[in-house]
Amino acid sequence: MSGSRAEGPVVQGWCPGALRPMMSGDGLVVRVRPRSSRLTATQARGVAALSRAHGNGLIDLSARANVQLRGVTETGRLPLVEGLRDLGLIDASIAQETRRNIVVQPFHRPDDPTLTISAELAQLLALPDAPDLPGKFGFAVDTGSTRVLESTACDIRIERDGQGIVVRPDGSGLAKHVTETTAAAEALSLARWFIATGGIREGRGRMAAHLARVGLPQGFTHPTTAQGFVARPGLYDAGAMVAFTFGQMTAETLAAIAGLGDLRITPWRMIVIEGATRLPDLPGLITDPDDPLLHVVACTGAPGCVQALGPTRDLALALAPHVQGLLHVSGCAKGCAHPGAADLTLTATPQGYALIQGATAHDTPIAHHSAAALIARPDLLTE
Ligand code: SF4
Repeated sequence: MSGSRAEGPVVQGWCPGALRPMMSGDGLVVRVRPRSSRLTATQARGVAALSRAHGNGLIDLSARANVQLRGVTETGRLPLVEGLRDLGLIDASIAQETRRNIVVQPFHRPDDPTLTISAELAQLLALPDAPDLPGKFGFAVDTGSTRVLESTACDIRIERDGQGIVVRPDGSGLAKHVTETTAAAEALSLARWFIATGGIREGRGRMAAHLARVGLPQGFTHPTTAQGFVARPGLYDAGAMVAFTFGQMTAETLAAIAGLGDLRITPWRMIVIEGATRLPDLPGLITDPDDPLLHVVACTGAPGCVQALGPTRDLALALAPHVQGLLHVSGCAKGCAHPGAADLTLTATPQGYALIQGATAHDTPIAHHSAAALIARPDLLTE
């Protein structure tokens, strides 16, 4: 391993997949990328059964609308992959799985082009001549009636803009007009430009950082207007959106909501139950849009993650009723649960929890506190 915990978190530069799982403190993490960010009810029930059979029965939702099975044993890995293959959830190769990094907006309707564009983009990314992109490089297809994925981390965005569709590189407000039929190919052209102009360094690279160095390619001149969206559980045209504490559920909960319909996986660690017209009353779900637990995010932390310098979730649960904005409790400076800035961040360090305001888990703290002190005096968060 190239770095001890005291030196800082190990940055892998790739994300775990189903074909390339990542070892964590509680076993292998096997990440499933549902096509078009959607699981049929049959697939979801199958995933729940595989989690019980080969994992520890805990399932996480990721900020890229993926589904992670935790606690998978070495002996369970191959039967698990075969089970996922039977469900149609396995790509032909690690390279294809890695490239098919597409988040699809979850409120799409039959009459908008979202599913058509995302399916074509997935097809193009599976071709042998598809651009060889870094592991974390991703696409967002956000072509519903309003944009909802602006705060979702990705590199190339296909978006609705007024009556039209645009392709926009992350990090710029300028986009290029495309059509429903050219959108996927234009997105891939932009990915090829990224590679050709040196966007990949030492196997890594993100679009926004590259634009800051080299500027925009030609043709990206159309100004777009930001549209804020705050995800909350509730009823939507597409169905009922439910949340989970820290985006984690049991296999039993996944099987139970799969009994209500097909599922759309969102990047907000929530799930839309397709076509549901009322919010389900099931254990393990957050359905109140004002639930304080929606104000906290926390990664697995210790002991589940080998890189963690302290536990996270008990502290986040204790502090949730006392925070107004977003509180991020991170087991180390990597900040997996929320890579962007949060109103308040507590990052576990050898000196206690670093308190960081309005920034990310690896930014400069204003103070360090113990968990006991923070629980006894939550006002320390805002002092
Ligand atoms: S942020 Fe959390 S989950 Fe990510 S490496 Fe650090 S401790 Fe582990």
